[in-house]
Amino acid sequence: MKEEDYTRQRERMVATQIESRQLRNPRLLAAMRKIPRHKFIPTERWHVAYDDRPVMIGEMQTISQPYIVALMTNLLKLKGNERVLEIGTGSGYQAAILAEMCAHVYTVERHTALSEQAARTLKELGITNVTVRQADGSLGWPEQAPFDAIMVTAAAPAVPEPLLNQLEVGGRLVVPVGQPGMQTLQLWQRGESGFEQEMIVPVSFVPLRGEYGFKKDW
Ligand code: SAH
Repeated sequence: MKEEDYTRQRERMVATQIESRQLRNPRLLAAMRKIPRHKFIPTERWHVAYDDRPVMIGEMQTISQPYIVALMTNLLKLKGNERVLEIGTGSGYQAAILAEMCAHVYTVERHTALSEQAARTLKELGITNVTVRQADGSLGWPEQAPFDAIMVTAAAPAVPEPLLNQLEVGGRLVVPVGQPGMQTLQLWQRGESGFEQEMIVPVSFVPLRGEYGFKKDW
């Protein structure tokens, strides 16, 4: 397929998977139309890049379904000037979408191979406002904290305490919390005197590992 065929598939993806499900934020839709999702997955799976489902990216990890990427991004209510932390870089696709909508993205991935590949892909696409780090993201990124928004793209047994601590007052954090195969997407908002928490939708993510992640039970 030619690049223009992928562009057409991407247009259709936004219309049928995002807009049709009531996500209408123009900046979000523009980002999803612009970022070439296929470039973030192995070439042999480019034909399914714009399907309505997650795609394997190697190391037993997946790039989320486009709708889930859109939904989670939308929950952060980004205006353009924020510094955002992402835990679970994976392919780098979610980071690229965030990068279209804020000032700078700090993203942490524990797998060295995935982290290096994501950094390469972002560089090739000329995306310069993403910093990729290989580390245990369940500890956040203390040297760069506080963040205006935080997104965790792996399932946690409970919201990691260091991430709450690294959130700016007025900031928003989205994280899937629960058990293997079934979690709830949680939205946390930091106020002057504490946190408000909201349950959004049931989701299914790969496990968050590391100090505040799942240990042997998954
Ligand atoms: N956001 C990614 C998909 C995430 S899949 C994308 O757009 O492609 C979840 C990722 O979280 C996996 O790559 C996994 O290796 C990573 N992960 C799991 N535990 C982690 C931890 N403690 N720190 C950093 N990354 C972690």
